Amino acid sequence: MIKIATLTRTKNIIKKHGFFFSKSLGQNFLIDANIPINLIKAIGIDSTDNIIEIGPGIGSLTQVIAEYAKKVVVVEIDKKLIPILEEMLSENKNVEIIHDDILKIDLHKLMESKFNHEKTIVIGNLPYYITTPIIMRFLEEKVRVEQLVFMVQKEVAERMQAKPSTKQYGTLSIAVQYYCDVKTIMKVPPTVFLPQPKVESSVITLDVLENPRVNVKDSDLFFGLVKDAFGKRRKTLLNTLSSGNLQLDKIFLKKVFNKCGIDGGRRGETLSIEEFAILANTVQNH
Ligand code: SAM
Repeated sequence: MIKIATLTRTKNIIKKHGFFFSKSLGQNFLIDANIPINLIKAIGIDSTDNIIEIGPGIGSLTQVIAEYAKKVVVVEIDKKLIPILEEMLSENKNVEIIHDDILKIDLHKLMESKFNHEKTIVIGNLPYYITTPIIMRFLEEKVRVEQLVFMVQKEVAERMQAKPSTKQYGTLSIAVQYYCDVKTIMKVPPTVFLPQPKVESSVITLDVLENPRVNVKDSDLFFGLVKDAFGKRRKTLLNTLSSGNLQLDKIFLKKVFNKCGIDGGRRGETLSIEEFAILANTVQNH
């Protein structure tokens, strides 16, 4: 099979179809055939795996995934790419192409109709500006996914894996680590894309935990507290939680801090995910 992911092939394909890259859709196509192969080997995809690929572009990654996986369903928003994908992937009988927006599609219906709710792996070289909403959709809607594998901006990968008391630690770190184990498995330079992005990328794996990392009685309250705690990073927990969206009373908060042994004079960014859980459960109990 001729690999799509080379500079010459990619240029020829887009020229033949009169395709123009859309910046607003974050279109940077892979032009190095080693990247898809290394990625698939690193995750260890085999013929038992069901895959959803988000944003297949002209199929550079899809073509390689399809060689190894059982079934691949791709969701592409750009209508102009659909005939190109149909042509490029015509020999890959285990690939199904869907023209839709991954942020709007009914994920549960997709899983039921295409995979009969069997566990799947979600893969994507994502447009940077929708990385977070896509990941959060899959995690919060509790779709039956065992692993998410995404090529993302290096800084976003660092934020997802960040530990307390670092500059990168924030609501995204906690949201992702609440549901998953996160790892960087590859670094990807801008030179392997056409057109070249300005940023470096990393491939991350998010292994979805059977149960959330911490036991919280009310996850809305937990995430509400996290959001408020990081709302004003330089303020103490006492000040930021009493002036945030939850509008918690200072006297009440002092009692809560006392009860759970967390110092209200600390900054939110120093709290571990476990401490946020203790805080949320103590607020809930009062
Ligand atoms: N996977 C291809 C590759 O690696 O060469 C293309 C990656 S390109 C960075 C991102 C792809 O996502 C584009 O094909 C773009 O049209 C598609 N895309 C952008 N927003 C999308 C959305 N909301 N839903 C589905 N696909 C989307």
